[in-house]
Amino acid sequence: MEFSAIIVAGGSGQRAGSGPAKQWRQVGGQPVLRWSVAAMLQAGAKPLIVVVPQGAEAEAQSALEGLQGWHSVIGGTRRTDSVRAGLDALKASPHPIASVLIHDAARPFVTAKHIRALLESLSEAEGAVPALAMADSLKRQDDEGGLTATSRDGLYRVQTPQAFQFEALIKAYDALPLDAEMTDDAGVLEASGGRVLAVPGDPMLFKLTYPEDFAMAEALASRRRAVRIGQGIDAHRFGAGEELWLCGIKIDHEMGLIGHSDADAGLHALTDAILGAIGEGDIGDHFPPTDPQWRGVASEVFLRHAADLVLAKGGVIINIDLTLICERPKIKPHRQAMRERVAEILGLPVDRVSIKATTTERMGFTGREEGLAAQAIASIDMPL
Ligand code: MG
Repeated sequence: MEFSAIIVAGGSGQRAGSGPAKQWRQVGGQPVLRWSVAAMLQAGAKPLIVVVPQGAEAEAQSALEGLQGWHSVIGGTRRTDSVRAGLDALKASPHPIASVLIHDAARPFVTAKHIRALLESLSEAEGAVPALAMADSLKRQDDEGGLTATSRDGLYRVQTPQAFQFEALIKAYDALPLDAEMTDDAGVLEASGGRVLAVPGDPMLFKLTYPEDFAMAEALASRRRAVRIGQGIDAHRFGAGEELWLCGIKIDHEMGLIGHSDADAGLHALTDAILGAIGEGDIGDHFPPTDPQWRGVASEVFLRHAADLVLAKGGVIINIDLTLICERPKIKPHRQAMRERVAEILGLPVDRVSIKATTTERMGFTGREEGLAAQAIASIDMPL
């Protein structure tokens, strides 16, 4: 999907209780802002502008660490000032922009499905918003403090993201008086005579406003993640005059391993398992064996790279399990040192790193001690 996006992370969130502003608080193990920025980037937002309050650039940087493809600009005191700052940044972008999504950072659970429905509606109108019919009865408070019934017919709750044809929204903001108060961007477009369509809203697009909302978001966040599994296999040939590196440990042996980098088949299999779980190809895609800069390099560089990619995608490695297949060297004396080394590289507790070994009963290339093989699986908790 081709679209640009502005995520407004400017609110002070006084109704959400004490503590940091709500966009920096944690939900499901990551800052509120990170949820929607990651979802928008994954759906193809380009460029993506995050509007942050003056002085909060470092907080945004830390909340979005590892995510690529966003820029921040400083917002203003009112929401409309912040959106104007975001639109100015888009206008200055070298990318041709046809449509823009504007989203509140405090609605973390936006998905590609919401985005697609909104963008499709832009072929029929200048703007599109998610709208929910009122389920609760409505009452209006009278002067004496009593409540009187009000019809809910034709009333909707409107959410974000809201989608707009870019030029139409620019014109609408240009025509809007600078001191005008607007609670959403569809209102700005309507004020200039633009047409806004409704797409079905989603209760999951609720806005974190009150302290209780965070408890609900926490419960929902766990349902928006899934465990993904990846597997990796590698083998290298034994050769004289080479060092033997296995699972990040140097082992004294009469033969070493030949091949890509330091030929550490254990770390290669493990790197491929992690890359597989997150859909990032294989080790050769990231570190081509034909590239001389990787000759002889310590394979922990590759494993760290894979672990950094997991982090950038909001993932958490749950556990890894690796089997080395060889007759010799005997692995058992080195097993604990290998576990500790791999745990250190991945930043995991040792009990989440399993390393085992087997022989093939003298059968095949490992049995004849021509080489050594490794198999690994990794399980990773990832945002859906
Ligand atoms: Mg290899």
